[in-house]
Amino acid sequence: MTTLPNTQQAEIRVVGVVQGIGFRPFIYAQATHRGLVGFVLNTGNSAVLIVVEGEKKKIIEFIESIEIDKPYLAVIDSIQTFWHTATGEFKEFQIRISKNEQKAGGSVIPADIAVCNDCIKDMNNSQSRHYQYPMTCCAICGPRYTTITDTPYDRERTTMNEFPLCEACDREYNNPLDRRYNAQTICCPICGPQFTLLRPDGTVLDVKDPFIESVKLLNEGAIVAVKGLGGIHLAVRATLDEQVQRLRKLRKKPNKPFAIMSKDLESIHKYAIIDSTAERLLLSWRRPIVVIPQRIPFLLSKFLSPGLDTVGVMLPYSGIYLRLFEGLQDPALVMTSANPTGLPTIIQASTFQEHFMDMADYFLTHNRTIFQRCDDSVVIPIFDRELIIRRSRGYTPEPIDTVNGGPSILSVGALEKNTGAIYHKRRIFLTQHIGDVDTVEALQFLQEGLSHLQNLLRVTTFDAVACDLHPDFLTTQYGAELSKTYQVPLIQVQHHHAHLAAILADHKLPLDEEIVAICCDGAGYGPDKTVWGGEILTGNAHNYTRSAYLEPQSMPGGDLAAKFPFRMLLGILSKKYSETELRRLFEIGAKKSLPRGVAEFEIILAQIYRDINTPVTSSTGRVLDSLAALLGVSTQRTYEGEPAIRLEAFANNGTYQPGIQLDIPVELKGKAQVLKISNLVDQILQLRDEFRGPDLALAAHQTLGKTLAQTAIGASKSNGLTKIGFSGGVAYNKILTRTIRRIIEAEGYEFLMHRNVPAGDAGTAVGQSLVARANLRKAS
Ligand SMILES: [Zn+2]
Ligand SMILES: [Zn+2]
Repeated sequence: MTTLPNTQQAEIRVVGVVQGIGFRPFIYAQATHRGLVGFVLNTGNSAVLIVVEGEKKKIIEFIESIEIDKPYLAVIDSIQTFWHTATGEFKEFQIRISKNEQKAGGSVIPADIAVCNDCIKDMNNSQSRHYQYPMTCCAICGPRYTTITDTPYDRERTTMNEFPLCEACDREYNNPLDRRYNAQTICCPICGPQFTLLRPDGTVLDVKDPFIESVKLLNEGAIVAVKGLGGIHLAVRATLDEQVQRLRKLRKKPNKPFAIMSKDLESIHKYAIIDSTAERLLLSWRRPIVVIPQRIPFLLSKFLSPGLDTVGVMLPYSGIYLRLFEGLQDPALVMTSANPTGLPTIIQASTFQEHFMDMADYFLTHNRTIFQRCDDSVVIPIFDRELIIRRSRGYTPEPIDTVNGGPSILSVGALEKNTGAIYHKRRIFLTQHIGDVDTVEALQFLQEGLSHLQNLLRVTTFDAVACDLHPDFLTTQYGAELSKTYQVPLIQVQHHHAHLAAILADHKLPLDEEIVAICCDGAGYGPDKTVWGGEILTGNAHNYTRSAYLEPQSMPGGDLAAKFPFRMLLGILSKKYSETELRRLFEIGAKKSLPRGVAEFEIILAQIYRDINTPVTSSTGRVLDSLAALLGVSTQRTYEGEPAIRLEAFANNGTYQPGIQLDIPVELKGKAQVLKISNLVDQILQLRDEFRGPDLALAAHQTLGKTLAQTAIGASKSNGLTKIGFSGGVAYNKILTRTIRRIIEAEGYEFLMHRNVPAGDAGTAVGQSLVARANLRKAS
């Protein structure tokens, strides 16, 4: 074929999130529209290769359109163009099938994407092939991370491989002008996964439509287990006190907030308050659980989030959930994730039944394998954005971009609410939410999550393994094994130093940028072998100094003091009162605050004053717990952070009272400032009968926030620094975050909040990888 004189060939390489989101059909349409010939191809390293021939002017226009008109989920990192002489070898424009390229390059796979409006229209259209089909999806929506078994992203490397396309689906799949063109997970009632409704004994209910029957059963009050895309939920009507409590008993979760789902914003408005940030987050394609204030009087069951003034809610992200609202009598369904310990990542019908026998009345299930379990993500709206509590479905495996490349690091995280991470070139890839790694099963889940990432990224070796400093964590032992396997250094990272570094990563700061970080949480192992958790650190990814900390307090009974906050209260007040005084003050209160009453109270006093089993901690969480005990808000922790979270809800009912004068003296000890926190707790004790509890709780929060902010400002001043970050689980506390931010910004400093990295321990793997990279040379 001859070429016209003004024709040229362009070889274009587009790198970024460009696979699995309808990018190639978009390119096809743009090229054919301009009369260009050639091809487009997914390569295995998160790039798309385009070769076009035609008029140079048209090609330039085409390249511009890639940037301007790209599909809404595409993220383009770079477009490289190489010009060549036209060859005349192409007759048309084609989408070519993937070459199995194995170059290591940091492949980017999209996260699961909520069902799009066009697909919902199909589901609602009785003339459509997809009418009422729960797994309807297209090239821009549907599951991704949970179904991909390998790269490049093609149907044969997804769990849809087990479902060959029917004739009609195949036509759509192969028609470049169809919105299901090359959509890897498409299917229909003829060729796709089938749903069945089971009784707990495994027998199938003989019903025409398992969804219509499920809704009927839900309306009658049944608990229905629902197998979704990345895991299993337990569903029950959200207004039924008795059934919600029954579910609590079955799940052995007495107080932990249950997430709920509503079909639309209008329904949510009936029971919760949605501001513009919350609305944006609820509607986003990531569809996280968004924690928002309850509308009072609260229309739903008070047992959804006992003692709290918020509710965690999400909108349906797949047709599976949409169908559960057809004819439902409630504005919301409890939709709590039910992945019991020991449940393997690959969830199949048989394992499902075995594990759920005792949890639900019915099982609504389907015959598609869940390859990667991925729980719902959880976020809190604050200011104009979200703080991520649990980063999982809809986020994983989207990377955290940093400024510099460097050695590859494998991080195993810490203990609670854990994730693992791979730092490869400029990007940190976090696994999906793993949970507390305190069992062999959870450790196995972490291993699977990391090896899946490793496989997707084609990373075969690492330069270092990073883990926590705590010698007894399962993850620390796992890290040690991995460092032997790869024969690379093991770098143990102090927990709060990891939090500091996580702030650096989250703000794209270089490894050597010094900041001051307020790192407040429940517990982290300190280099002095005590438990840290109320730290103001100054440093960068290489090093840190402990500029300030909360005065260490006795934890009578060790871990029991975290479980029963009254113990912590006594530990803290023992700094101010003698044994006799404490007995006089609290003997009566002990009866209802301790499981074994006065007998236990006497043991605690003995532990404190004879120094038996009383480790010390500078934890902020324990201080908030003790205030929760003092103000009668919480006597027992049944889930992580419970007393402190309830205290915040309690404080939200408080108002400013000029008569409440609180202060936390700060004293220099060695080179560090110590915040004398027992003063604050004692002042609250003394004002307890004079003022309302919520007013005192609010004032205590504000005083703590103010003192932390001012101390951090002091550390910044003396080190000539301008940026102050806030990290750790306590950063989810809105009263504290608002107070700290206000003071820091009023003084002209830059306040660094977390953005894409969880503030809690789910973000420590990110910090560990930065610290490891920074210290690699030193260690080896
Ligand atoms: Zn769609
Ligand atoms: Zn089909």
